[in-house]
Amino acid sequence: MTVSITGATGFIGKRLVQRLHADNHTVHVLTRSRSKAELIFPAKDFPGIVIADVPNWKESIQGSNAVVNLAGTPISTRWSPEVKNDIKVSRVNVTSKVVDLINNSAEGSGPTVLVSATAVGYYGTSETKVFDEQSASGNDYLAEVCRDWEATALRVNKDVRVALIRIGVVLGKDGGALAKMVPIFMMFAGGPLGSGKQWFSWIHLEDIVNLIYEALSNPSYKGVINGTAPNPVRMSEMCMHLGDVLGRPSWLPVPDFALKAVLGEGASVVLEGQKVVPAKAKELGFSYKYPYVKEALRSILS
Ligand code: NDP
Repeated sequence: MTVSITGATGFIGKRLVQRLHADNHTVHVLTRSRSKAELIFPAKDFPGIVIADVPNWKESIQGSNAVVNLAGTPISTRWSPEVKNDIKVSRVNVTSKVVDLINNSAEGSGPTVLVSATAVGYYGTSETKVFDEQSASGNDYLAEVCRDWEATALRVNKDVRVALIRIGVVLGKDGGALAKMVPIFMMFAGGPLGSGKQWFSWIHLEDIVNLIYEALSNPSYKGVINGTAPNPVRMSEMCMHLGDVLGRPSWLPVPDFALKAVLGEGASVVLEGQKVVPAKAKELGFSYKYPYVKEALRSILS
């Protein structure tokens, strides 16, 4: 299979590229920066990989069987008005470009599968509700971003199979949420962020990559699929396990006001959460390598 991937140089994308390449698929890395991509995927380690900067996206996409769309500016930074706008525009614009290029493929050629990222932020936040794929969208900014992002992906031609993966907090080495949390714990200053009661719907990096991989080749994977582990936890539990695995205490709560001072409105990403269950993945028989957070953390940090 030939797969084009936007956001291939990111935390999830890098691992996905490694997996597809190791299994002898042809990978097209769609990037805004050829030099960055060449450093991440040197030709000697990734023979045969195609690195496509923006002018070459058309040829790359239209010469593929499938596209994975992972691009987007990071959300866990301080939200200035510009950053907030970029959070939406970066996702919607790249998705729109990808969809247009797929739709403009010559008849009978071009990709037949689009696996497009979205996020559990679609559901809004709650300390009490449980969200599955049938649940309604929330009414905060991230929910609005996810709705627009998904609606843009769904503009793709009807004969293209679309899987929209609503991704939870991805836990893995060298990136994502843990890269921010672990240094705080290692300085003996770790503890629940905010009240600790907020839900933390997580997934191990290996499992989200496996889910995306499966969605590429299995025709039953279509529509919305929650990309979360089957056992979400509250933030206090997550931090307790993180402290345990690191051999550090988890006793000093990081207060709301401190996070708001650093992250502004973006603090809502960690101070509020949602309990999201992967009903569709379960129905599809997806097998998780890491269903429980403690084992997931051990595998990453030990
Ligand atoms: P990363 O931030 O690690 O990487 C995303 C990639 O997107 C970058 O490598 C970059 O590729 C591209 N990108 C960055 N900024 C922009 C921009 N302004 N315009 C266009 N492209 C941009 O993301 P992750 O791998 O962590 O996540 C992948 C997707 O999954 C993202 O859309 C994210 O929102 C979503 N997601 C991730 C979660 C997580 O916990 N990691 C949770 C929920 C959803 P390049 O520079 O090569 O163009």
